[in-house]
Amino acid sequence: MNETPRANRLHIGIFGRRNSGKSSLINALTNQEIALVSDEPGTTTDPVYKNIEILPIGPCVIIDTAGIDDIGDLGNLRIEKTKEVLEKTDIAILVIDPKSSISDFESQLIEQFKKINIPFITVLSKFDIYKPDKKILEEKLENEPKLISSKTGKGIEELKEELIQKAPAQLLDRPIVGDLISAGDVLILVTPIDAAAPKGRLILPQVQTIRDILDHNGQALVVKETELKNALKSLTSNPKLVITDSQVFKEVDEILKKDVPLTSFSILLARYKCDLQSLVDGVNVISNLTPNSKILVAEACTHHRQKDDIATKKIPTLLRKRIGEKLEFEFSSGSTIPQNIREFDLIIHCGGCMLNRKQMLNRIEKAKLAGVPITNFGIVLAYLNDILDRALKPVL
Ligand code: SF4
Repeated sequence: MNETPRANRLHIGIFGRRNSGKSSLINALTNQEIALVSDEPGTTTDPVYKNIEILPIGPCVIIDTAGIDDIGDLGNLRIEKTKEVLEKTDIAILVIDPKSSISDFESQLIEQFKKINIPFITVLSKFDIYKPDKKILEEKLENEPKLISSKTGKGIEELKEELIQKAPAQLLDRPIVGDLISAGDVLILVTPIDAAAPKGRLILPQVQTIRDILDHNGQALVVKETELKNALKSLTSNPKLVITDSQVFKEVDEILKKDVPLTSFSILLARYKCDLQSLVDGVNVISNLTPNSKILVAEACTHHRQKDDIATKKIPTLLRKRIGEKLEFEFSSGSTIPQNIREFDLIIHCGGCMLNRKQMLNRIEKAKLAGVPITNFGIVLAYLNDILDRALKPVL
């Protein structure tokens, strides 16, 4: 894992009609000729993602939405693809070809940016060839467009400056656990290595947490749950914090003395990348569920399911045991959550380690707008094992 994970990069969405100059702008911003070939299979409307460094912002991912306008103004596919990109866009650049008029395409995009609070910059491309009537465009766009020429480089530095100004507070500066510890503190990380663990490596939340502890001059002692007792014995005092995979919450809780602070990777990740309090509020509805309730279990990506899969087996079994065997579950996975979320009494979401903060916040917002409580796997497991208060104490 040599690169900053995509989920931790500032997502810059480049929007605009065909031939408006999006690709040239991306090349000018990155100082390189980027081959616009998607490494993700799909239709021609699939946006292309490219990891880049824009100094001094740091690691970014540029989303080239080439193709989104290829399906016709009212195409449903275009609208869906656009929505998908908007949900993860931290900052948008709308590229306008000055020789074409401003159409519904641009106006609708601007409306969407405003509606979901995406800071955006409009640019008029090809300034070396066309001299647009800036005043007329300003009136239509309701803001002052930047004049750029990707060919000569005019306006590119100013555009980068504006990106830096408008870039929302970065995830990169947010600690996962660093703000809860002091230099020299020892933390124990409990990571089961079972059939579900990927071969030869740790999973992303574990790697990120270790890195954050090192960044804050703490000491990370990483063990399997079977080695936890020995690890505790090897220390001369209590660890500052024990962070566990939520699948072994119960076992770890039973091993630890009650005065040792305990939380989970998923709770730390929820605090880091979205709105922990909303997810905690969501879990409390479990006490109001009835055997006729309907629950959506949502995962952000598809993967091979193990026999004792947390999403489709472990959580449903524990909840049915508590609420009733008839409790109904639906499962979804992928880059969007189902349209019919109003039908559910609770959404239980995965940790979202592959999603960026914006996407997670948007999913929570969608659930709130639909009036459906939302929580996550780790919080549910802590709740069902009756250790939620203990697991939240170190972080709330
Ligand atoms: S995004 Fe969700 S489903 Fe995908 S690996 Fe992370 S926790 Fe698992």
